[in-house]
Amino acid sequence: MSWTPVALPAPAPNQAYLDVSALDGGRLACPAWMILSGVPMTSSERLEVPSLGFLLSHSASGKKVVYALGMPRLEDLSTLPGFETFAHIYLGDEGKVSPLRLFTFESDGCVHDSLKKGGVQPEEVDVVVISHLHWDHVGDARPFTEAEFILGSGAKGITNGEDPQTQSPVVIHVSAPAKRTRFIENWETSIGGLKAHDFFGDGSVHVLDTTGHLGGHIAFLARTSLDGSWILLVGDTVHHMSILHGECDFACHDNGHGGVLCMHRDPEMARDTIRKLKALVDMPRAQLQIANVNADEGFYLPVKFAPVT
Ligand SMILES: [Zn+2]
Repeated sequence: MSWTPVALPAPAPNQAYLDVSALDGGRLACPAWMILSGVPMTSSERLEVPSLGFLLSHSASGKKVVYALGMPRLEDLSTLPGFETFAHIYLGDEGKVSPLRLFTFESDGCVHDSLKKGGVQPEEVDVVVISHLHWDHVGDARPFTEAEFILGSGAKGITNGEDPQTQSPVVIHVSAPAKRTRFIENWETSIGGLKAHDFFGDGSVHVLDTTGHLGGHIAFLARTSLDGSWILLVGDTVHHMSILHGECDFACHDNGHGGVLCMHRDPEMARDTIRKLKALVDMPRAQLQIANVNADEGFYLPVKFAPVT
């Protein structure tokens, strides 16, 4: 395998940057065999993981961006647009067996409450970036009444029904209000081998096309200082740090029907994307925060992630 040198863009004079804080988006638990290879499907081991959101404040414009909306609240499931099938399976006849019921809600934190606790009202948010359209990352869009919603270009086929994933109960294809949704389709550059889009046009945040997990999955690479510190925010491309670091692979199981049971829609593409993300986070002055990995308690709004020096 050839090695491609990775370079993060140099700062410009008076470079704009982002203050970044974590937001509580609830917690779930699921069987470890769904995430980590090497754990047999008979194992009772469970992993409890958060589904974080993040608030980013742009230094030059003051614009507020939320990346990822976390989980919906259990109490809201029956009223949330797009969750009808999910709620029917999850809250329906307890005797029915579904892989969906292997997930449990462990806390009812939510991104809009976490914002309020940190002093920001959801209606003050200018942009909501949906990392991808899985149920545990789309949260509840309703309080974000003024925001533009951003999706990756690969999510278009899901939202318009052309992608078969639209039919999956865990894919909530109407999560973003259609009239206020913009798809990132102009990938004018690449960073670390990943297609990239300069979101504000000033080099402060790059949207990265991190496909493989689900169509349209996007990560956010944001500057956190004037002089070259970065944070990489990632949704579900990687679920566990041991997978990122190559200590184990992600789980793929025979589904008993000639197919594969895997968290990633395209496992080979996901593996390639993980390798590229790892190269990025190994860069000096870069830090990583994955939505499904606990953030240090000290980084929740109103506190921000300390830039790497
Ligand atoms: Zn997902």
